[in-house]
Amino acid sequence: MIPEPTNFIEDIIVDDLKSGKHTSVCTRFPPEPNGYLHIGHSKSIGINFGIKEKFGGKCNLRFDDTNPTKEDVEYVESIKEDIRWLGYEWDRELYASDYFDATYELAVKLIRKGLAYVCEYSPEEIRATRGTLKEPGQESPYRNRSVEENLTLFENMKNGMYPDGSKVLRAKIDMASPNMNMRDPVIYRILRATHHRTGDKWCIYPMYDFAHPIGDALEGITHSICTLEFEDHRPLYDWVTEHCDFDPRPRQIEFARLNIKNTIMSKRYLKKLVDTGFVEGWNDPRMPTISGMRERGYPAEAIKDFTSRVGVAKANSEVDSALLEHCVREYLNVHADRCMVVERPLKVYIDNVPEGETHEFEVQDNPNSETSGTHNVKLGHLIYIDQSDFALTPPPKYKRLVEGGTVRLKGAYIIRHTATELDADGNVAAIRCEYIPDSAQGGANAGMKVKGVVQWVNAADAVDCELYKYASLLVDATETVTDFNDRLNPASLTVVEGAKAEPFVAAGEIGKAYQFMRTGYYKKARVSADGTVRFYLIVSLKDSYNK
Ligand code: ATP
Ligand code: MG
Repeated sequence: MIPEPTNFIEDIIVDDLKSGKHTSVCTRFPPEPNGYLHIGHSKSIGINFGIKEKFGGKCNLRFDDTNPTKEDVEYVESIKEDIRWLGYEWDRELYASDYFDATYELAVKLIRKGLAYVCEYSPEEIRATRGTLKEPGQESPYRNRSVEENLTLFENMKNGMYPDGSKVLRAKIDMASPNMNMRDPVIYRILRATHHRTGDKWCIYPMYDFAHPIGDALEGITHSICTLEFEDHRPLYDWVTEHCDFDPRPRQIEFARLNIKNTIMSKRYLKKLVDTGFVEGWNDPRMPTISGMRERGYPAEAIKDFTSRVGVAKANSEVDSALLEHCVREYLNVHADRCMVVERPLKVYIDNVPEGETHEFEVQDNPNSETSGTHNVKLGHLIYIDQSDFALTPPPKYKRLVEGGTVRLKGAYIIRHTATELDADGNVAAIRCEYIPDSAQGGANAGMKVKGVVQWVNAADAVDCELYKYASLLVDATETVTDFNDRLNPASLTVVEGAKAEPFVAAGEIGKAYQFMRTGYYKKARVSADGTVRFYLIVSLKDSYNK
């Protein structure tokens, strides 16, 4: 049974399977190892590996390593780790450099067919003679060299007889083509650079437009899915596979890149943030990289949910980051245990709970999970609530504790304010309260009307925490400021020290996500020697996603 298609790429695949053009499908994800993967790549990963899963086919991981000056094994390893973390496994791990010998032989084949020539123009001369969209290009004076001469020159190029940039191999196509990519494109260049896999074996490297279709064809890729900017390269892609005599030939299909508002989606620019030290590294929790999101505490499932909700389109558009955050919240709402954390602690003495006495309450770890366990919270003479949950002069519609007022302590009693202690500057230093007997859940006074419910932490067993709160790396673009460089947000990280958490968080392993009641989802990032727990803000509770 051939599955139902759900987008235009799958339409093509289903047609090819139904017509018998292919009996099975093979895709590939082809990253260039010149940086870490970002959220945009997860779109391409989702499409390519998604097709493999849906149609029972194969998907290769092919590193497009034709640019030795920018590439590195560190990037290769990080890319593999990120794909696995997203939950995908490739069939074959391959490198464009695996095909350097085959690619060279195919270039020789083109020369023999009179379809490629060695050109001695400088890069500037090539550019200057390429023509424009309105005017045809000029043919290179080297264009009509004999096959023999081209074979010798190309071999000499390979053997290192010429300096970098002094010669190139060009495909002989059509200098008058309306498609600029067909005007005798360069397919090989001389470049002395140590390659991370082939070392110094080669001093000539194929161009992407030549290496990519060859890699696809050699691997038996049936559908080569790439982003829209390669649409104009498709005629060249087809020219290469045709004239290299491949049969069957892979088909290139383009889709729209994923763009997210206020989000940098270019490895080159992300690298700059790393190199200048604006962020701690590629996996800094603020980075829109897969590794940054993992470090931040975004679940892989939420990222996959997001890319599938964005869908596959043929026209470029920009998605709001609120949708990604919405997917993260939806997942964590079901999967993250709840806990109480007070960010800016205010001392609250419960005068009718004498010192040394503790009351215990059982609470559910996660009321939104069917498999939730429970844990106990203790309440003694001194507890903390957040400074923002008590006001001497409450603003209008204030739903928390005021002088003489009542409020429910989440999961425990209702308390009534009795007195306020001020410090020398007139600021609130502590408040005194009484709990209402039998006001816990199920008690006779549980139904008493209160203004609101607040989270609280018992002082005797509170855990000290520091909260790393993240905001967007970029501030919104304005009419005058559009450049990334001028939009870096100096306040993308705020550290809140002195927060207090219930002891439940001490038991959780590093990496565990919690919902801090009434504030946000946080990841337990580390515990320092003195027991202080560091949390990263994954996403706040407030959802700005507009369905
Ligand atoms: P960058 O400009 O960030 O380096 P790239 O396209 O050069 O991006 P590659 O490593 O060449 O990065 O990309 C690997 C694959 O991921 C390609 O097929 C590419 O089309 C795809 N890809 C990259 N960015 C996006 C994006 N924003 N949305 C969807 N697919 C993307
Ligand atoms: Mg690229």
